[in-house]
Amino acid sequence: MILKDAEFGEVIVRKNAWSKGVRFSISTSGRLQMSVPQHTTEFLAKRFLNRNRELVRQNIPVNSPGTQRARDAKKKILTKKAREYLPYRLEYYAKLYGYHYDKCRLSHAATRWGSCSSNKTISLNIGLMQVPEPLRDYVILHELAHLNHMDHSEKFWAEVAEHDPKYKEHNKKLKKFSPGV
Ligand SMILES: [Zn+2]
Repeated sequence: MILKDAEFGEVIVRKNAWSKGVRFSISTSGRLQMSVPQHTTEFLAKRFLNRNRELVRQNIPVNSPGTQRARDAKKKILTKKAREYLPYRLEYYAKLYGYHYDKCRLSHAATRWGSCSSNKTISLNIGLMQVPEPLRDYVILHELAHLNHMDHSEKFWAEVAEHDPKYKEHNKKLKKFSPGV
């Protein structure tokens, strides 16, 4: 359930079978989240929010409704750009260096640029569209190397180095950016 609130914008209400009281937290998008007991109605959730407005203001750094909207718009644009670019770039390098992956997924995790699962699905963060190309390529080559080494062993890094000799520099520069949109 989503409440529209003049002050806090969209408030995400999650019903939780085990929850006895109401808990406030913040979502990765900077929206206010409320965890409420299973049978809470919209009316009760709103009332609870109104009663706790001051507490939320003081304790939870909620993005303003304008910031929430701007972030949504930015995410939409990045997703579109990423969809038109990342799967093809991944495919390009996989073919070039003889890797076989199963699927390419786009993610918008707040803390990870990419991942490679044991069933050979590679996830790439849409935030990569905001970093310089050599760093973006480094992440792709890093995840591809995980197809052969599911760890960060010496052998793994040797394989990354083979395809991206400047990987150390790229890895370091990437830390100046944040994957979260
Ligand atoms: Zn890794």
